[in-house]
Amino acid sequence: LPPPPKGAPIGRLPDGSFSPYAGSDKFSQLPLSKRTKDGLADGKYSKMTDIQRASLPHSLCGRDILGAAKTGSGKTLAFVIPVLEKLYKARWGPEDGVGCIIMSPTRELAGQLFEVLKSVGKHHGFSAGLLIGGRKDVDAEKERVNELNILVCTPGRLLQHMDETPNFECSQLQVLVLDEADRILDVGFKKELNAIISQLPKHRQTLLFSATQTKSVQDLARLSLKDPEYLSVHEES
Ligand code: ADP
Ligand code: MG
Repeated sequence: LPPPPKGAPIGRLPDGSFSPYAGSDKFSQLPLSKRTKDGLADGKYSKMTDIQRASLPHSLCGRDILGAAKTGSGKTLAFVIPVLEKLYKARWGPEDGVGCIIMSPTRELAGQLFEVLKSVGKHHGFSAGLLIGGRKDVDAEKERVNELNILVCTPGRLLQHMDETPNFECSQLQVLVLDEADRILDVGFKKELNAIISQLPKHRQTLLFSATQTKSVQDLARLSLKDPEYLSVHEES
């Protein structure tokens, strides 16, 4: 499957048909590693949802994504798959440290997406950690956080590690994901998010997914998105 042209609409078009760049709706038609394909097959995932079908051909060739689709439309796999593939292609290993940060606005959502990442990514050798506030012992976490390849976190806990964990290092970050991006970009997280972003390398892939399309140019500049693909998937009317 060749990469689609920049800006090519891949999802369902306004008339309900699929764009000629849509290709098949099967995961098996995507250029994925066997490890990811096996993880998807174990989870009985075979057909892509609309947002997955619209975004994966772009995200898998390294483009920044701004994806909007309603709750329950399968946004988690739309970022988990490109994260796994990016690190796999880079031959990311235990010594390479943090290669991906996935941020979620709440502990519950972070916990849920962590489970999806573990299950679909189980044939890969990456280490992943769930860094959320609450009961978990932050000191024990500090010992391990530098050995993790993929961090799934809430903004507050991530910032706490950036501030307090000795030698916390993310200068090699390959992918940044904001799940429920509209909620993270909301004023409530403004200070945390700015402090986090200022410590991340600008040269990276950035994937933003939410239920509503983020339109604030200021927000996008803040995240240094590079010519992102805007993908909006709505229900058929
Ligand atoms: P969202 O983040 O958009 O609210 P989720 O990623 O949580 O949606 O997915 C919603 C549900 O759809 C989950 O139960 C998930 O397992 C299921 N799902 C996601 N992608 C697929 C797929 N390609 N095939 C079948 N089920 C899927
Ligand atoms: Mg979700």
